[in-house]
Amino acid sequence: MSRTFSVGGIHPDDSKFSMNQAVEEFPIPKRVFISMNQHLGAPAKPIVTKGDTVKVGQTIAEPGGFISAWVHSSVSGTVADVALYPDFLGKKVLTVVIDVTGDEWLPGIDRSPDIKNEITVSPAETITKIAAAGVVGLGGAAFPTHVKLSPPPGSKAEYLILNGTECEPYLTSDYRLMIEHGQEVLIGGELMRRALGDVRGIIGIEDNKPKAIRYMQQLVENYLGWTVVPLKRRYPQGGEKQLIDAVLKRRVPSFALPISTGAVVQNVGTAFAVYEAVQKNKPLISNILTVTSQDPTIQKNYRFRVGTPVQEFLIASGAMDHEGKLIPAFTKIVNGGPMMGKPVSEPAGPVMKSTSALLLLTDKQARRKEEQNCIRCGKCAQACPMGLEPYLLYRLAMASRVEEMDENRIFDCIECGCCLYSCPAYIPLLDQLRIAKNASLKNKRK
Ligand code: SF4
Ligand code: SF4
Repeated sequence: MSRTFSVGGIHPDDSKFSMNQAVEEFPIPKRVFISMNQHLGAPAKPIVTKGDTVKVGQTIAEPGGFISAWVHSSVSGTVADVALYPDFLGKKVLTVVIDVTGDEWLPGIDRSPDIKNEITVSPAETITKIAAAGVVGLGGAAFPTHVKLSPPPGSKAEYLILNGTECEPYLTSDYRLMIEHGQEVLIGGELMRRALGDVRGIIGIEDNKPKAIRYMQQLVENYLGWTVVPLKRRYPQGGEKQLIDAVLKRRVPSFALPISTGAVVQNVGTAFAVYEAVQKNKPLISNILTVTSQDPTIQKNYRFRVGTPVQEFLIASGAMDHEGKLIPAFTKIVNGGPMMGKPVSEPAGPVMKSTSALLLLTDKQARRKEEQNCIRCGKCAQACPMGLEPYLLYRLAMASRVEEMDENRIFDCIECGCCLYSCPAYIPLLDQLRIAKNASLKNKRK
């Protein structure tokens, strides 16, 4: 029997149109824009300057603090600029711009497709290699992986949960990774399991991916300490707190870290990046991206180089012309899935280490229905996986009643959008809660 989490949740239409599309190598662009803000925490500090030549895999920036990550060049070529450039949201961030020449890799990186099963590194070396390779969480948050694998004093990991749920509609990159590179994902998981102190390993996969469940079950038979847990399809099962609840039946308390339940959650994409970092000496310079829409000709999975401009994918897929205009069929580009993704306002901005999807929406899909008055139906509260009362938080946010928002646990909101999805009055609950959370956070920092 498949398990699931205990509070709230919704069942949006899957729309995983690109599920059966094998991952294709996306062409290397002429120029990449590598952001220094690719991870949670302090931005990285560039160590290259204009005119420097770089190879693929070469370090171009060092961590800017304890919670930060190394950044590497995803291409070979010449540094054209180190300056502020817009990201896909239009926000200017420090960026290393590289003009591409050829595809020359740093010596010592193993690029062969042979799978390296044997683990010879110690747990401490594993964590050092993960940090040096700039690995960050690829489930969306981009939290530096080496930090997450070093639980704070007083906490102890008992379980490593690999997140293979991919519960957001449309997204298929994790699914393709599991069925095309399940072995490498498992070796990456095994490295992290050992690094955490020989904890138990669990892979959580939703039951709309039976092929991935079967394949990973077959693979774990050769590994002690691993099990695959099939999960009922339900959004937002990929949220860390929901996944821990679904798999272990343990709840993460308010303001506590997931490690308080004894669990460390890592995405399957992160496990693959750990495999490459430790077994192949390859830094995190590429990832898999789903480019999808309702149009059957635009439903693909690509392996891309970090820093490729978003518009390159849109032009290659036929969704954008060479002048940078979307074709009339589409009006909106979303970076990520339809539930938690962010609208792309600057298509010249680059994809990052943790970018997992570009979704193209038609006018009909993107158009917001007219907002009506709240009818106090309580559907938003029923759907909230954090047990919050979104209608109340919305009213408090509109009235800027910050203290009461805090008392009603606004900081527990994981911005999943279940409330917005369920509201028959089309009230923009999520938008308002995001604004209120940010304002309250800024206030606290002051
Ligand atoms: S966005 Fe926040 S308030 Fe709305 S359902 Fe998700 S967790 Fe609850
Ligand atoms: S779902 Fe919408 S209409 Fe119903 S109580 Fe919540 S905010 Fe009001």
